[in-house]
Order: sequence, then structure tokens, then C-alpha cells
Amino acid sequence: MSKTVVMSGGVGAAKFLRGLSKIHPPDSITAIINVADDFRLHGLAISPDIDTVTYTLAEQVNPETGWGQKGETWRVMSELERYKGQTWFSLGDLDLALHLYRTQRLAEGSTLAEVTKEVSAAWEIEVNLLPVTNHPVRTRLTVEGEGDIDFQDYFVARQHDVAINAVRFDGASDAIPAPGVLEAINEASHIVIAPSNPIVSIGPLLAIPGILEALVQNKERVVAVSPIIGGLALKGPADRMLSELGHEPSALGVASLYQPFSSALLIDTADKHLSTKISNLGIKAVVANTVMSDISKAAQVALSAINATNPPLTGA
Ligand code: GDP
Repeated sequence: MSKTVVMSGGVGAAKFLRGLSKIHPPDSITAIINVADDFRLHGLAISPDIDTVTYTLAEQVNPETGWGQKGETWRVMSELERYKGQTWFSLGDLDLALHLYRTQRLAEGSTLAEVTKEVSAAWEIEVNLLPVTNHPVRTRLTVEGEGDIDFQDYFVARQHDVAINAVRFDGASDAIPAPGVLEAINEASHIVIAPSNPIVSIGPLLAIPGILEALVQNKERVVAVSPIIGGLALKGPADRMLSELGHEPSALGVASLYQPFSSALLIDTADKHLSTKISNLGIKAVVANTVMSDISKAAQVALSAINATNPPLTGA
């Protein structure tokens, strides 16, 4: 059976995975998911990207936000307001159960990969969800004129409304890929870099020793989907982050970041005019509609991505 790996951040990757699982058997897909947004709050272990992918594949995600559960209630958060507790990061009543469960299982000595598997089994998810590593890796951003802050401070508390001039992934160089991660990359007939933030979602995956090397080795089978359309991110700070860190905020900028380990880049029809410049960088530009506004469009984007790579090298 032909196997596909998707290098994943949160919302963009989750939509892509949902589309892909409509055109490929879900159990032939492995998502390798960013953990550098993970953090602790109220003593709980929270893994935002893993949870977004989980709820999306469980058909349970809140369609308005793209994260959290649909039909969520917020009674615990409003009660917490009474005590002037930490309510800057909203955790819904249903969502809290997942963080309670994960925290308890980690405290008992389970790995993040094991807990992720248990949670996805409970939701009857057939896609194989793998945190990129079981080791703690944490994104830190340098705010101009201020110093270093945590990812969720930047992203949620400050609504990414501050300029940054550096990003690093604490713990990445000492981390090792979770069991099965490198094997999945090496065995895949197609490897997709999901439409995720190149700096803070895909960046931390590449920072784990062994991952970039595995992608480079399998470059012919790697296709990326540009998260930047017409010079803008559909959501979030990816465009601004690219320019603040000295990259061009466009599909061309994404192409130059991904060229060392990808053979093709799926770009939106809005960026068709960039095709030649992208191809001149040594990465094939494939033009398609890439906005995943519903499940059938997401399936179409997944199909375009899969068709953009060279035929599988093995008999997969
Ligand atoms: P997170 O969900 O906040 O962790 O962020 P992601 O890592 O998922 O990255 C968000 C990026 O995905 C943004 O740059 C968006 O532009 C991009 N994105 C989200 N939805 C889509 C889509 O439907 N198509 C494309 N091409 N990109 C998307």
C-alpha cells in the first residue's frame, strides 16, 4: 500500500489531512506533528497542534475557529475568572478533559507519542498521529527591544501583534525523533510539507536532528504546499514572520526556504506569475487552487499535492 507522510502544524495541516484522508486510506497516512507550541498551564500539559489535528480528523473541530471542539462550553473558564485565574488561554470544558488525561498519563511515565495514540484511538482516528519527538522542545521568540518570550505569550496573549527578530527552538538539538518518525519518512511514497507556518510550525520539525537529513534523502518524494497566497497568510502571522526574519513573504520566499528538501511546491493560482522564478530556484512550481474552504476543496488540494511529486520510486 502506498504510504503518505504529512509534516504538520495545526489548523492548515489538519484541514489538509482531512482532505487527504478522503482520497487515500486513512491508515496509510502518517502525520508528523509539531510539538514546539506545547506548554503547561494550570499544571496541565497542552499540545495545541496535536489537539487541532485530533479534533479535525474526529470531525469534532469548531468550524469557526479551526481549533477546539464544536459545541464547546466555557463554564470552567468563567468560574476561573471569579478567582482572577489565568484565562488568557481559553480551555473549553470538553477540551479540558483531554489535557487532564494527557497530564495524568505523562505523569505515570507514558510518552507523548503513546498518549497521542490512546487519544486518537478513543476518537477512532485511523490516520497515524505521531508527535515529532517525545522530548520537550519549546519555541522562543525575540521581541524587538524587549527580549525573549514563549510562543503562547506571543501567539495568544499578545495576538502576535509585536515584531520579532529571532526564533529558536529550545531543546531541539537534544531531542530525538519519536519512534517511527524516521521510518515513516523513509518508507513513504509521498511526503507532504503541509500548508503550515514555515517558521514556527515546520521550522521546529526540521530542527530535530535527523528529520531534515531524512527529507533531503527523500527529496524526490517531497512536495510542499505554500501557506502564503498572494503574499499573505490566510490566517496568523506567517507572512509577517517571514519578512521580519528576512525572507520574502510570498510563495517565492517559501520556495527558497523549502528548496533544499522539496522537489515540488504547490502554489495557488493567484501566484501563477511566480512559477518561473520558483522553478529557477530548482523546485518545480505546480499551480492549483490551494484554499481549503471545505472538505471537497481540501481533498482536491491533497490530490494536487500528491500528483505533484514524481511517481513513487518503490513499488508502493
Ligand atoms: P496554526 O494552526 O496556527 O498552528 O498554524 P499552521 O501552522 O497551521 O499555519 C497556518 C498557515 O496555514 C497560515 O500561513 C495559513 O495561510 C495557512 N493555511 C491555512 N489554511 C490554508 C488553506 O486552506 N490553504 C493554504 N494554502 N494555506 C492555508
